[in-house]
Amino acid sequence: MKYTHILIHYAEIGLKGNNRALFEKQLVKNIKTALADCDIKGVRRLFGRIVVELDETKKLKNKITEELSKVFGISSFSPVVAVKTDFDKIQETALELARASKNWETFKVATKRSHKLFPATSMEVSRDVGAHILNNIADKKVKIKEPDLMVRIEITEKKTYVFTDKIPGGGGLPVGCSGKVVSLLSGGIDSPVASWQLMKRGCKVIFVHFHSAPQTKKAAIDKVEELAQILSKWQIKTKIHMVPFLDIQKEIVKECRGEYRVVLYRRFMVRIAEAIAKQEKAKALVTGESVGQVASQTLENIAAINDAITIPVLRPLIGDDKNEIIEKAKRIDTYETSIIPHDDCCSLFVPRHPVTKANISVTRSEEGKLDIQKLIDEAITKTEIIEL
Ligand code: ATP
Ligand code: MG
Repeated sequence: MKYTHILIHYAEIGLKGNNRALFEKQLVKNIKTALADCDIKGVRRLFGRIVVELDETKKLKNKITEELSKVFGISSFSPVVAVKTDFDKIQETALELARASKNWETFKVATKRSHKLFPATSMEVSRDVGAHILNNIADKKVKIKEPDLMVRIEITEKKTYVFTDKIPGGGGLPVGCSGKVVSLLSGGIDSPVASWQLMKRGCKVIFVHFHSAPQTKKAAIDKVEELAQILSKWQIKTKIHMVPFLDIQKEIVKECRGEYRVVLYRRFMVRIAEAIAKQEKAKALVTGESVGQVASQTLENIAAINDAITIPVLRPLIGDDKNEIIEKAKRIDTYETSIIPHDDCCSLFVPRHPVTKANISVTRSEEGKLDIQKLIDEAITKTEIIEL
């Protein structure tokens, strides 16, 4: 069967006026980028749908379906045969598609009609096409609930789309239509999942990673780059700010109370991330924290971290258990990379008993012993930007 188009279905709930135009424009752009190497003829809004125009002389490539299944904003998509809106053509195409499908005994025809001037109702089209299939293929039955094969017909004014497959897309919203965020990406399990969740809700994610080279190995940095590479499948272009953090850590270790180190490291991280967000015109930070998961993630410590900045910090995993996060990490393919052993900057110089209920005034006065702005400026000057 030669498919002519791929019909893109997206969730329309909540899409109104301006929002809708923005959503569709962004989705078309993202699909074009995702399919840039796929030999397609184009991506267009056509008769009120988004369709990928295929080169009919070529076989439908797996790469196209693989790429589309990772595009956020698509709820599902279907390879279709587009024909002129004419009953005989529709009927013949439906029969051909049914013939080409394998392993089915029962079927159902479902018709949608946005072209209300078409001479038959949706019910009549389904009934007549169903009868045509029964008359031409032996030993098949119509089944309304959970048939083996669904033959779908969508009638628009000029073209009618006939198809049998519905493949799940990425869900969510098109990356870019919800603005930009800066995500603090460690080499661990949680932060890649947190980043992915924001991409899924339409945010373009810029990454920032803090490393303690040369105290930690280059492999730790490579691992973060690999995680970003895996995540970039969902947003195409990806940028990582690699921030040297060792000098700041050394100052904190030298000047401040041991049990406050981890909270102070985090305050510096979010301050630097906030400065990067300003440069990048991003409107929020993202972390992989979850309440109570480790000593540094108590409500008191979260408050002490937020106290250092004014930009919102989004924590999409805040109510997830570790095993729920692991489950998601496996689904998005980051888990195997995350569990490779590595040394993280935060495991350096960590005291035996880090504070679990940081007191904000103590936190501030410990930090007051440092030249905060100078340390931040130096780290930002030495930051390297990697583009994937
Ligand atoms: P993860 O699995 O994401 O590393 P975690 O359970 O190890 O999280 P923490 O080490 O307390 O938790 O880190 C909390 C969050 O702080 C991380 O999810 C991440 O967003 C951020 N973070 C920690 N270390 C770094 C780092 N070296 N670079 C960038 N962000 C970091
Ligand atoms: Mg970690």
